[in-house]
Amino acid sequence: MLVLKAYKYLIYPNHEQQDYLASVFGAVRFIYNKMLADKIEHYKRAGNMLRTTPARYKKEFHWLKEADSLALANAQLNLEKAYKQFFRNKNTGFPKFKSKKTNNNSFTTNNQKGTIAIEGGTLKIPKLKTKIRIKVHRSFTGQIKSCTLSKTPSGKYFASVLVETDIVPLAKAEKTIGVDLGLKDFAVTSEGEVFANPKHLRTSEKRLKKLQKDLSRKKKGSQNRYKARLKVAKLHEKIANQRKDFLHKTSTQLINDNQVIVMEDLRVKNMMQNHKLSKAISEVSWSMFREMLTYKSKWYGRELIIAPKNFASSQLCSYCGYKNAEVKSLAVRQWSCPACHTEHDRDRNAAMNLLKLAM
Ligand SMILES: [Zn+2]
Repeated sequence: MLVLKAYKYLIYPNHEQQDYLASVFGAVRFIYNKMLADKIEHYKRAGNMLRTTPARYKKEFHWLKEADSLALANAQLNLEKAYKQFFRNKNTGFPKFKSKKTNNNSFTTNNQKGTIAIEGGTLKIPKLKTKIRIKVHRSFTGQIKSCTLSKTPSGKYFASVLVETDIVPLAKAEKTIGVDLGLKDFAVTSEGEVFANPKHLRTSEKRLKKLQKDLSRKKKGSQNRYKARLKVAKLHEKIANQRKDFLHKTSTQLINDNQVIVMEDLRVKNMMQNHKLSKAISEVSWSMFREMLTYKSKWYGRELIIAPKNFASSQLCSYCGYKNAEVKSLAVRQWSCPACHTEHDRDRNAAMNLLKLAM
């Protein structure tokens, strides 16, 4: 099966290359904002959507001709997408202007017959005469479709390469498994396997809390505030990477070992009364995890089942089916079924109920 897969690599542009990237980041921001402003103005005047292209602006702003035209075209596509999304669902919010301050340093360019290539530790992109040093920690096979270049707030540069690659589904597995996601442990399966939240991740998150507190105490506009913000940004990046890595490993293991995976509807989790930071962090992980399981199960010929929203996986006794409303409280970790007296571990029992749902 042909699928699009993204591979993200650290790149090390030299000063000249950094200048080039900065100029395209700027051009993309400019064209996006300009088109957005014109659209808004046109809408106020005419009451409908203005269709416009970057080409129209090149006459007025000559310097745009020097930017990668594919990057500009992709900026236009992104804007159209944001616009359409807004008109379809007003809750998503009106497209916002891209400010340099809020980290809008990225552009996407496309491969046209080899204009993007990775070879010998270097990355070739359109328009740039020299090749950028790249660290390929993971190789891929297949054709490069596009490449997104970005700069993080902490000053790192990345290239995310979208590759069309042929995926061979895995041989059929025997097992079906229920997976319960939680706050204490990341996940517990119906077989009793526990995927604990990695310790290094928890340590980093604790440190982040402290750094954020430090930042809030610094005087606005001061050099110290700038330094503190940089520290926070760096740690944010690190945590995001650590988390993604953990979620990839966990989802891959579950996909490898099981034919059918049953999971709770995350909307149920979102209703839980818990406003702690850990909850917010977990939510991000849960939805990312579900996303990974969704596409990986498609790629590798597995089935992902999501339990119905009203399914009380935690409260049901997985042995006799008795519904124990007292287990609603998250504080209850262990309980004994009033009907059949089976002893339950909260998460494992929930996972077993999810498993039963698939049977
Ligand atoms: Zn029971």
